[in-house]
Amino acid sequence: MSSFFLTTAIDYVNSRPHLGTAYEKITADVIARYHRLKGDDTWFLMGNDEHSQNVFKRAQEQGKDPLAYCDEMEQVFREVWGRLDVSFNDFIRTTDRKRHFPAVQRMAQVCQDNGDIYEGTYEGFYCVGCEEFKPEKDLVDGLCPIHKTRPEWIKEKNWFFRLSKYQQPLLKFYEEHPSFIEPEVRRNEILRFVEGGLDDLSMSRAGQSWGIPLPFDPKSVVYVWFDALINYAAAVGYGWDDALFKKRWPANLHIVGKDITRFHCVIWPAMLMSAGLPLPGQVFGHGWVFFKGERMSKSLGNMVDPLDAAKRFGPDPLRLYLTKEVPYGGDGDFTWERFEEKYNADLANNLGNLVNRVAAMTERYRGGQLTAQSGGPLATVAAESARAYAHAMDRLALHEGVASAYRLISAANEFIAETQPWSLAKDPANAARLSHVLYDAAEAVRIAAVLLLPVMPSSAVEILRRLGETTAPADLRLDTASTWRASGERAILNAGALWPRLEDKGAPNVSENTTPATPTVPASAAATETTAPAAAVAPAAPAGIHATEAGIAPSDAAAPELISIDDFMKIQLKVAKILEAERVPKSKKLVQLKVDVGEVAPRTILAGIAESYEPEQLVGRTIVVVANLKPAKLMGIESNGMVLAASPEGGGAMLLNAEPAVPGTRVR
Ligand SMILES: [Zn+2]
Repeated sequence: MSSFFLTTAIDYVNSRPHLGTAYEKITADVIARYHRLKGDDTWFLMGNDEHSQNVFKRAQEQGKDPLAYCDEMEQVFREVWGRLDVSFNDFIRTTDRKRHFPAVQRMAQVCQDNGDIYEGTYEGFYCVGCEEFKPEKDLVDGLCPIHKTRPEWIKEKNWFFRLSKYQQPLLKFYEEHPSFIEPEVRRNEILRFVEGGLDDLSMSRAGQSWGIPLPFDPKSVVYVWFDALINYAAAVGYGWDDALFKKRWPANLHIVGKDITRFHCVIWPAMLMSAGLPLPGQVFGHGWVFFKGERMSKSLGNMVDPLDAAKRFGPDPLRLYLTKEVPYGGDGDFTWERFEEKYNADLANNLGNLVNRVAAMTERYRGGQLTAQSGGPLATVAAESARAYAHAMDRLALHEGVASAYRLISAANEFIAETQPWSLAKDPANAARLSHVLYDAAEAVRIAAVLLLPVMPSSAVEILRRLGETTAPADLRLDTASTWRASGERAILNAGALWPRLEDKGAPNVSENTTPATPTVPASAAATETTAPAAAVAPAAPAGIHATEAGIAPSDAAAPELISIDDFMKIQLKVAKILEAERVPKSKKLVQLKVDVGEVAPRTILAGIAESYEPEQLVGRTIVVVANLKPAKLMGIESNGMVLAASPEGGGAMLLNAEPAVPGTRVR
């Protein structure tokens, strides 16, 4: 078993995490979960950077002790990461006196002993937002290009780290370790920067109390960046547990934003060289996620709260969006419109619908039981997808990894469309063929869910549960779990929509009449309570019974007046069985049903449920209809009755199930 130690940047705690911060943690979490799925002994470190002057100021503004303020913010950060299913193993704070203080003081002392730290005077511009000295050439109209603020002019006694001495050793190291800096574009930036020569670095601040005192000059504190970088070593024992440090260090991967690659690719390795420590395996500088094309920041006031997305949909749709839609290493953009569009396309219509169809058809045609079959054409696609997935994930092309899983999902959807299991089911002579088709589709979905485990942990677990996966999620291993299984029995669970489709804004919603605001909780929202996969099913909300067909629905949206039992008994509700179902041409919402209501001849009823159900899912269902509704003509077809469905707000209609009652039975 190989071990894998990865880290994210630690965050300033002067504001709560926004979507841009969450992007880094989510993608790092996808990588961590991928390595666990591979069976690596994975250690995933995150943390908070607390010795910033910004943090100190923010605490003062709120009249708080800075440490108490940081304690509070730690809880805020931990809550957000928990809600987003970020599975760090360790969380370090730079105010940690047991781990971080001794590590920073040890490293400062070792570098000093090696002659790499000397005393001098610093004079120059300092941007407090960046916590960085800014050479005049980097300013734009005198302002910090990132914060659009005017840096302070500072002159003080400082201790300097002899960074210049490490120019050649760094260049040699980059050459010998070509994958140390990724992606390529960052590597080139850093190479040009280091080739241009390195200035020594101020590594202390004078006259401040908020920070870690230098062991050889306790009146000065360690400059926040020199301090912060050491967290990666401090967390795994440097300066306080040599055996632990030896076991975990060096880190295999530092995930950081592209704006701070310089610190991680130049200063940090030089510090480690000075301290005589091994260097990390790789620094990956990811891009930024913009909001409508602008960088999210507190100062610009355009921060998206990732919990807004998690509250509405659970963490997984957001995790999928950020991993799939942003090429890892490049920049991406987030808008709510685009997010909802992708939710409908990737989850409601594609993966969610696929899971639904496979489960519904297996239930209907095979009583929910499948026997394994040797692979057909889908098995080939599955093997190719799994191979491409691993290749992409290993080189951190996360977006390509997800795309590989989605290629398999699309192939399974096409396979169902081509093989038409509902047609095969009509002729007993096709029984073996039907069994094979259903198994192949289910097996393809199972493998796709395995590939998506790192990206959508709770949803993938729920899909695997429905597909009869018996191995505990934590015990699944990529190589075996993504291999086609050609033996065994499988119990498939038909458990309802995972991701109800979002209605287009402005489009008439057939289900908006009388529905109280019962929230439709998509699967993964509930599934954050990790041990309760059963709760991950969208509740069949008893959301108020009403017409699902716009043309014949009562249109009174006001609070309904009370009716007597006699009034109610005027409505004949009856059990009906759906015999045939087909889409009404040119209608997005209407399905034409032929139903058995226990009468001599079947009836035709039009229902506005085409966005929730595929016609083939409907045939055979036992439902409730209003049997004595006046006939109405829609799209040229006469409808004789109305079906009843629960219609949660924002979600698709869910037909009421009347099984096992016999068609024609009165409902009252
Ligand atoms: Zn700045």
